[in-house]
Amino acid sequence: MLEERLSCIDDYGLETEPRLRSECHKNPALLHRVIHVMVENSQGRILMQRRSQAKDIQPGMWDMAVGGHLIPGEVAYAGAVREFMEELGVLEQDVPEFVEMYQYTWITDIESEKVTSFHARSDGPFSPDEGEVDMIAFFSPVEIDELIQSKSVTPNFQYEWSLHRKWRKSPDIVLNDYPVFGICHCHRCERLTDFRCSIQGKGKLVKADYWNRPVPGFGDLNARILVVGLAPGAHGANRTGRPFTGDAAGDVLFRALYRIGLSSRPDGYARGDGLTLTDVFITNAVKCVPPDNRPKPDEADRCIDWFQMELDALANLRMIICLGRLAFESVRKSLIHRVGNSDNFKGVAFGHGVRFDPGSGLPGIGGLYHPSRRNLNTGLITSDSFCDLFEKLCKDA
Ligand code: SF4
Repeated sequence: MLEERLSCIDDYGLETEPRLRSECHKNPALLHRVIHVMVENSQGRILMQRRSQAKDIQPGMWDMAVGGHLIPGEVAYAGAVREFMEELGVLEQDVPEFVEMYQYTWITDIESEKVTSFHARSDGPFSPDEGEVDMIAFFSPVEIDELIQSKSVTPNFQYEWSLHRKWRKSPDIVLNDYPVFGICHCHRCERLTDFRCSIQGKGKLVKADYWNRPVPGFGDLNARILVVGLAPGAHGANRTGRPFTGDAAGDVLFRALYRIGLSSRPDGYARGDGLTLTDVFITNAVKCVPPDNRPKPDEADRCIDWFQMELDALANLRMIICLGRLAFESVRKSLIHRVGNSDNFKGVAFGHGVRFDPGSGLPGIGGLYHPSRRNLNTGLITSDSFCDLFEKLCKDA
């Protein structure tokens, strides 16, 4: 049987050459189009499907009732109708109206999806494909929250549920590319877009080995601790596509995280290396690598929008550790924006190992020198002294 070809798009959303499904599912650089349909019945209950135990990925987990790849050239609405009929065994005359809710980019270690999500009202009846789906069932929003708590849903569904709740509050607003995962296709800073795309491979690496895009945050969305650096390193995060991964700063940071049980490994070298973070999320204030590691003030200010949305996604945050003065400034501005005034931040300044609690329900803020190669080489910090202070700041989170 011929392998399916998927509809792929470039950074501007334009369709490119279709690629084989197997290629797309092992290369996050191949952004392919996907539709989801959130089905709600007349009692306000949401239809979900339990993935077959025979699936390679996330067997037995609860997921969106309808989801699938778009065929090259297919418009999203038509793809949603087709998938709805195929997956739920519904005849064409019984397909309800769909409303587009939002689009977002979902990126994992193995693939990148551009998802268009629709909402539909239907009480069925449904006859799902038994080979693909273990079972389907309607759940109330409270029951869905319980499934999430018990880690019985896919990570994508968990993220989509948070988007769906926002959409229900403001259905007129179509959310596009909501971070943490949607940052990767931003071109708002012309200088930084040109610079990040121009970076060539170093040593044996070639340009194709490089991510050369904005780098989204990484880690546990239920984290109490957030670590914020300034910007991706040219041959570190800008190469690997994951913050602090692939350079000297990452070596120190992951060691510090591992030492206090927040990282599954003491090192991180690439997306897909199996490293997982627990109770901590790591990101940069500016998502694109800047020339000479120095973003211009307008670039840093522009990128605060993304950072704000990352902050919004981290509902359990208790402590933000800023690596360097510029990261500290971006965090301070974001939190001032959140509370609407600077009263809580009077006289607050960055200091190595200094913790500050602004109150008003805001997370604490700690400062540390960035564990960059330069700071290590000049002796401003050592790996051990960084780890010690890092542990101290995390202790009371
Ligand atoms: S620095 Fe931020 S705002 Fe500017 S292009 Fe990169 S992601 Fe977009």
